[in-house]
Amino acid sequence: MTKSSVRVCVRTRPTAQFAHDQLIVKPESRTIEVNLKKNPAMGVVNNMRENYTFKFDGLLHNSSQETVYHECMDEIVQGVIKGYNGTMLAYGQTGAGKTYTMSGGTESYKARGCIPRAIQQVFGEVSARPDQSFTIRMSYLEIYNETLFDLLAPAGVIAEENSELQVIEDSKGGITIKGLTVETANTEEEAMNLFFEGETNRAIAEHQLNSSSSRSHCILTVHVESRSRVESADRVLVSKLNMVDLAGSERVSKTQSTGAILREAMYINKSLSFLEQCVNALADRGREHVPFRQSKLTHVLKDSLGGNCRTTMIANIWGESSQLEETISTLNFATRMMRVKNEAIVNVK
Ligand code: ADP
Repeated sequence: MTKSSVRVCVRTRPTAQFAHDQLIVKPESRTIEVNLKKNPAMGVVNNMRENYTFKFDGLLHNSSQETVYHECMDEIVQGVIKGYNGTMLAYGQTGAGKTYTMSGGTESYKARGCIPRAIQQVFGEVSARPDQSFTIRMSYLEIYNETLFDLLAPAGVIAEENSELQVIEDSKGGITIKGLTVETANTEEEAMNLFFEGETNRAIAEHQLNSSSSRSHCILTVHVESRSRVESADRVLVSKLNMVDLAGSERVSKTQSTGAILREAMYINKSLSFLEQCVNALADRGREHVPFRQSKLTHVLKDSLGGNCRTTMIANIWGESSQLEETISTLNFATRMMRVKNEAIVNVK
């Protein structure tokens, strides 16, 4: 059993208005210094401290998608192929680059994000191991207003509340979603098509619910099963790779929402603040009495946080001076996340 902390990397979104005076990014030492005093537009808000220094496991500043993948995901995917669960979370305020990081940009092939790259790596690793037989399956879950949606469900039921979907915990603490479509992908191309199908359904659901992806949590999971072709074929390894694009972490008050939008914003803030509570509890006392069941998101992520998993979080920040308050809040959360310890073991079926 390997005990390891959640690995936390911060990624800055490129912007011409980067607040260089207030946000000093030092990739060599992996530190970020924040100086609120030098921000004339904002002053020091809410009695916040003026100076902060943060240090992370990785700091991705002006980094390409390839570099981000290499730093944050490559090792996790290698582990998943060997039977260890892996999770990658993208956290941060709306507009900070979570979807760009996970799914990617559409401007070029180079802009593809962690999900398509992970799919490519999974199939690359599989074809490099002819002595093992693999089954690769995929599922794509969306959590919106405490309701689970199956993004790979047959067309027509996408945006309807699917009461059949249920978070189930096995005796070892493993999490599965009962009722969720899990499709076999025989090739990289089939897997990519499933990903695109899920992305399309996500967009359709957004339209039908008049919501935006910034307000839901999306989890693409690659399920891997493998057995040796040479040794005893009874030993089957099972693992999963969760790739999670979280809802925007910004506070409700800032969005000046009313009515349905406010209710929605409250759900999101609730699930993210439950995530925060779980992370705090895990950081302070380990796995005792962690309130995972308080929200769908934390329940679904239970085995990724402090459980049998290798987890990396990318905290995306938007370094403009108008966004400094949210940036500090993201960096504080990211710092707490580094204290969460996971224990990854190979899963034998
Ligand atoms: P979020 O999912 O956190 O709300 P997005 O991923 O949608 O944010 O990013 C907001 C905008 O910034 C998008 O137009 C996206 O293409 C752009 N963007 C974000 N990160 C990068 C990056 N690293 N390089 C180029 N464009 C980026």
